Amino acid sequence: MTTSLVVKKTGFITGMSTRNMPYDTLENGLSQLVRTLGLANHKVVRMNQTHSAHVQRIGIDNASVLEDTDGIWTTEPGIVVAVKTADCLPVLVMHPQLVGVVHAGREGTELGIMKVFLDQVRMALGIIDGFTFWFGPAICRRCYQIDRDRDLYYDVVARNREQIGESLDLNRSEIVYSNKCTCCQNDQFFSYRKEGDNAGRLWTVGMRT
Ligand SMILES: [Zn+2]
Repeated sequence: MTTSLVVKKTGFITGMSTRNMPYDTLENGLSQLVRTLGLANHKVVRMNQTHSAHVQRIGIDNASVLEDTDGIWTTEPGIVVAVKTADCLPVLVMHPQLVGVVHAGREGTELGIMKVFLDQVRMALGIIDGFTFWFGPAICRRCYQIDRDRDLYYDVVARNREQIGESLDLNRSEIVYSNKCTCCQNDQFFSYRKEGDNAGRLWTVGMRT
């Protein structure tokens, strides 16, 4: 279990599970991570992720599982937001006024999920500067061939960086890269491409204190 992989920021508690964390169900893995971070008494909100571009603002009264959702954010301190991945890019969004998580695979990225997320925050709070985005372990371009005949590869990290850059001025926010590949470093992380349907899932969580 690693909880120190995620960027540390004052005012936030963050963490991520790796494949070293034993679990029998995905939900169990999440509760173990939450317990390890000392957040067992907090509300945890996760998503039934569908590779959509559906983003929701959440609060203390929301259900703990949101259907058909791939991005969530909250301005309320004390709520843990969670995303699960195995090759797709987990993005943790931190700002003095909010915390959020995004599940950005190829499909969600092509649907513009980061743009949808940032548009929603701008409409609600008028925020365009001062974000920290953490890009977690995801399948790297070399490992992600999407068309063998045409020898095409997909770079989920680059595409999401571009998308954020189109939505705001990257000189006034920061992106922190984990620079880890779930497939190249499969000894540490779960990879759907490498392991197929039996692949476990990595949990990334964040909370404003
Ligand atoms: Zn790789």
